Amino acid sequence: MDTNQFVNRHVGISEADEKEMLKVIGVDSLEELIDHTIPTNIKLPKPVELPEPMTERELEEHILELGSRNKIFTSYIGQGWYDTATPAVIKRGVLESSAWYTSYTPYQAEVSQGRLEALFNFQNVVTDLTGLELTNCSLLDEATAGAEAVMLLHSERSRAKAKAKANVVFVDKNVFETTKAVIRTRAIPQGMEIVEGDWKSVEFTEKMIGAVIQYPDATGEVEDYKAFVEKAHAADIKVAVAADLMSLVLLTPPGEWGADLVFGTTQRFGIPMYNGGPSAGYLAATMAYKRVIPGRIIGLSKDAYGKPAFRLALQTREQHIRREKATSNICTAQALLATMSGFYAVYHGPEGLKTIAHRIHAYTGFVAEEIKKMGYKISNQNFFDTLTIEMAPAATVEKLREIALECNVNFFYRNDGRVSISLDETTMQSDLGVLLYIFSSAIDKEVTIKEDVCPKHVYFDKKFERTSEFLTNEVFNKYHTETELMRYIKRLERKDISLAHSMIPLGSCTMKLNAAVELITLSMPQFGCIHPYAPADQKEGYEELIDGLKKYLGAITGLPGVTLQPNSGAAGEYSGLRTIRTYLEKIGQGDRNIVILPASAHGTNPASAVQCGYKTVNVDCDEKGNVDWDDFMKKTEEYKDQIAAMMITYPSTHGIFETNIIDLCKRIHEIGGQVYMDGANMNAQVCITNPGYIGADVCHLNLHKTFAIPHGGGGPGMGPICVAPHLIDCLPQHCYGQPGYEGTEVAAAPNGSAGIAAITYSYIRLLGYEGLRRATGIAILNANYLACRFKDTYGIVYTGATGRVGHECIVDCRKLKDWCGCDENDISKRLMDFGYHAPTLSFPVHGTLMVEPTESESKEELDRFVEVMECIWQEMTEVAEGKADKEDNVLKNAPHPEYEIVADEWKHSYPRSKACYPLEYLRDNKFWINVARIDNGYGDRNLIPTYKCACD
Ligand SMILES: *Cc1c(COP(=O)(O)O)cnc(C)c1O
Repeated sequence: MDTNQFVNRHVGISEADEKEMLKVIGVDSLEELIDHTIPTNIKLPKPVELPEPMTERELEEHILELGSRNKIFTSYIGQGWYDTATPAVIKRGVLESSAWYTSYTPYQAEVSQGRLEALFNFQNVVTDLTGLELTNCSLLDEATAGAEAVMLLHSERSRAKAKAKANVVFVDKNVFETTKAVIRTRAIPQGMEIVEGDWKSVEFTEKMIGAVIQYPDATGEVEDYKAFVEKAHAADIKVAVAADLMSLVLLTPPGEWGADLVFGTTQRFGIPMYNGGPSAGYLAATMAYKRVIPGRIIGLSKDAYGKPAFRLALQTREQHIRREKATSNICTAQALLATMSGFYAVYHGPEGLKTIAHRIHAYTGFVAEEIKKMGYKISNQNFFDTLTIEMAPAATVEKLREIALECNVNFFYRNDGRVSISLDETTMQSDLGVLLYIFSSAIDKEVTIKEDVCPKHVYFDKKFERTSEFLTNEVFNKYHTETELMRYIKRLERKDISLAHSMIPLGSCTMKLNAAVELITLSMPQFGCIHPYAPADQKEGYEELIDGLKKYLGAITGLPGVTLQPNSGAAGEYSGLRTIRTYLEKIGQGDRNIVILPASAHGTNPASAVQCGYKTVNVDCDEKGNVDWDDFMKKTEEYKDQIAAMMITYPSTHGIFETNIIDLCKRIHEIGGQVYMDGANMNAQVCITNPGYIGADVCHLNLHKTFAIPHGGGGPGMGPICVAPHLIDCLPQHCYGQPGYEGTEVAAAPNGSAGIAAITYSYIRLLGYEGLRRATGIAILNANYLACRFKDTYGIVYTGATGRVGHECIVDCRKLKDWCGCDENDISKRLMDFGYHAPTLSFPVHGTLMVEPTESESKEELDRFVEVMECIWQEMTEVAEGKADKEDNVLKNAPHPEYEIVADEWKHSYPRSKACYPLEYLRDNKFWINVARIDNGYGDRNLIPTYKCACD
């Protein structure tokens, strides 16, 4: 094996293993297996054009070179992104720790207590600072959080308003441009009208249902909205407030002056700017919204013995179950970044945060005073960290800009001729000197800097001062030394199963290797300290990387128009449908309003379609799991003139390649519709076939599945969309630097989470065409190998025309209940005793486990997993044959927590060793769990989303 080639590090199967596995499957070569799996009429006729593969060493050099072409200027641009100091202990302990970044969304609560606690901390930070009672554990970014808030204003409007068909939302002109743009994109297909204006003079009308304002606003002004909110409420209008969390350390929180919803970003709580993302958006609400707030909420529940334990609460609200009735399509969010921001607050505590916020504010005030003396006019009466400045008579914006650039400093140059500056946590006394130098040089004066900033001085009106306490819970008041925080982080980490422990065989989620070398940019200031609105000549490295990535993704999908803006797969679905909508309007087909979906579609598909203003029509699946051709023809005939698009996952969520896919696409085109391919299963296609070749017009890719971005415990993600040439003009644009723009922006930043684009870029550069093709082939090999091994026990639900599966297989558990009384959920819990995370549970087929091994697992790991599943099969057989008790058995009582195993009293009918060491390998390497099975009802009946609620 050539260890210099990255493909041999990424792919877990050696050539010798491959031979043995092919023999088990009963084919002669990998190519033969591929031909059994993928219909030959869709195999690409020629290789995909990609650069030659690099070695790890070459890639590192290349990345360093790209980084050197990103210039780190001091950024005072603000507008939603601020430089921040990520505490090194969090960077090393979380961001760079494989256990944190490779874990899955915490659906299996018993092996996720660490990140659930970390995210619970995040929820407490948001609720305490905003002054509201409830929050989710992250959204994608500030702009989309704003759009989600507006959706709630609409869906939760009063009955009287609904009856009056009220649909107008007022948005203040001083909300960030990008937030306004995304709100518009999202609201218009819902039949809402967005009215922009000045909150001071707006007239509330009968038709108005909500108002969106910002605090402090985009010019930095802190306004007193109290009377405004009262007036709005009196007119049956709800108010959503965009708020900067750091400012809320010093300012009266919106929850205390009546806000119904508060949203924003937590970026400045320790997350680098990364040229726009990722960082965690947040949305806080009053308890009235608890059943409709989008995203995930962590609640405090209890385990089978009554011990407190965390779990995702009110899960049933999610799109997985609610589908077209879901309030939002959000699935992947920003878990890793929310985790980091939570730890940031834990590390600094309320006192530390006050010190930071006071310093930012005092420095800002000092700068304001000094430049006023020079003849500049400050537009702000009350401010926290942002000043909007009118030029002094002797200065011009051009001159100021020129001097600032000479000093490696960026300001925000507004369209109205004013300049805004935002200070942040990293601003130091020495920076103040540079700032004053720039402003004085622009009027040709010299200044002598007095260093007499009083770090506690407050420049805003007393009435804005926050008087309420926050972060009073113990967790925010005891881990302030590095030793303590390091151990707290480790303690939480030890409670969770991640890829650092074992294979996570989650079907549809593609939990493959996230190679360390692919992640190096995340820790490099050359990539972290770049503001998304920094001038292009300061980010040449980023530009090359982004352009390269778009080109590669276009080549891989066969769809050449690419945008990186969407921050998740579901956001990609929305963007893709929005692109189709724009296109149909353009060609005079805007009345088409139906999206058809196979019954097996992922829940985000119908949810996205509805968010985009479409109606959904389901098409049945036949007994083989394929789209039922007769039903498909019937529906496409019936709705012929109304169909805007078909959304289809390929290979299907049943894990198989339908043979008539080309005909399905043809038929949709015939009747004037567009084909949207959900690319979550691209790991079975890359470099063998592609959406463009098959006939799709649009697809999204889950870069956090197929393309090696780690899952992060539930995000970040990237869901770029790729489109055919006729749709390129209709792709979402970005408002920054485009006055008068009316586009369909779908995220806050022009390139979405640009900061993690380097991971996929690196993955593709390391593997090249041959390597990517091999990865796909081995993914298919591994899945078919497991399918063969499970065939005679559990059985596989669906196979393709030739009896093969794609890159995943659905393990049948539907008959177990009658046979032994155990079900797929018991198996999932029992797997934890073996140190494994469960496969995908009951999706897309109820009563099954969907297994996706990916190409990165070794044969040894696959064999161990089979051994474990066979051992569980034996345990079920014992129950079925009456050798084990129907209720008191290892499956029903799983997982077995450590505290139960070592308890003085052992109450079960089987020995302790059977509970915790069912296989020999466990004696050497046991993953100990510290909670028993968690009550899945309790958290919903008694939602406890914060420590404060827990104490009530
Ligand atoms: C994961 C997945 C999605 C949603 O992607 P997110 O990034 O979680 O929003 C959509 N469709 C399918 C088939 C998926 O597996």
